Amino acid sequence: MARGRDPSPLERHAQALALCTYCPSLCRHACPVATAESTDTTSPWGLVSLVEHVRRGLVDLDDEIAEQLYHCAGCRACSDACVHDNDVEGVLVAARAWAVSRGVTPFPRELFERAPLVLDKIRRVDRFERRPAIALLPGRVALETTPRVIDTLLALCERLDVDAISCGEAAALDVGYELWYAGYHTEFVVQARKVHAALSGARELVVMSPEALYTLQHVYPRYGLAFEGALLHTSDLLMQLLGSAVVQRVNARVAYHDSCHLARHLDRVEVPRQVLRRVLTQPLVELAAHGRETWCCGATGCLPSTAPETARQQALAVVALCHEAKVDRVVSFSPECIAALRAVAPPGLRVDHAVTLVGEAIIGDTAAG
Ligand code: SF4
Ligand code: SF4
Repeated sequence: MARGRDPSPLERHAQALALCTYCPSLCRHACPVATAESTDTTSPWGLVSLVEHVRRGLVDLDDEIAEQLYHCAGCRACSDACVHDNDVEGVLVAARAWAVSRGVTPFPRELFERAPLVLDKIRRVDRFERRPAIALLPGRVALETTPRVIDTLLALCERLDVDAISCGEAAALDVGYELWYAGYHTEFVVQARKVHAALSGARELVVMSPEALYTLQHVYPRYGLAFEGALLHTSDLLMQLLGSAVVQRVNARVAYHDSCHLARHLDRVEVPRQVLRRVLTQPLVELAAHGRETWCCGATGCLPSTAPETARQQALAVVALCHEAKVDRVVSFSPECIAALRAVAPPGLRVDHAVTLVGEAIIGDTAAG
């Protein structure tokens, strides 16, 4: 690819690019990818400096260079650790989109494109209605890996008199987070329009995947596709439901793993904890890295597809935190985190969706999802 300054979308990020490039890498300690890979190349400083060098025409953008831009979990730990709150994730998303627009695609679009799930699969969950008033969006990972959690959530709603909630046609569609994150923005917009149309008529949307909720709440509006009803996460719904519920508290020592998107992108640190405290007898165990300082388990940011061994190392780091906290059970509100942690958890560590724990307390359902 020819060298030379390009009037690219990266110009909008000139200040963020300069901040990182001239910074002595002050957030390096917070980056789970650089830690797992033991290199500065994929630290926030390393990645953003690379983008700046490409922008200034000092480095040619080819597949090998662009591949490095996918060594990021989109966890935003760097931004939280940065005194400037520098938007590293935003810079990298823009850089990938710029590379894709110039035909530099180290990873093919198909890797991030999710075909609609067959509606039969969704109809198998307890409730299906084409266009429900309160739509439940479980997400692909929950439907494929923890379908029983979806049934438990719907059973909880029924027990607690929320009858209008149901999976609808939109549940078959992927919201397109990975397409957006990987820089395939033309394809993302096509997908987002389909999801937006399928959600028409819903007055409330309950989303199980934190990254999907982030995409719907913060990315869709940038393309004129804001959802007009109320957007809730599963933990928000449970918090509302548990207010008047009769609870048989569960006597277990349980730790909570915050998903990056839930804690940092969506600022939901307390609500999930309030739900868990409501159903536990013993105090909730906090991992050494928790809340907005949670350690990313590598489940998001396309990392499982673009750097699977790095993602695995990150999940192992969270398992090590559970070991250090001396718990044999950890729960999360993210289907993606649960899948990542279950893939590496030793036999002595049970990894559950928080809905499973709430199900135990309200309906006595003790089976893991
Ligand atoms: S995000 Fe902030 S702390 Fe990290 S390298 Fe950039 S300017 Fe420095
Ligand atoms: S978003 Fe997370 S993985 Fe990406 S550079 Fe920042 S700290 Fe590292």
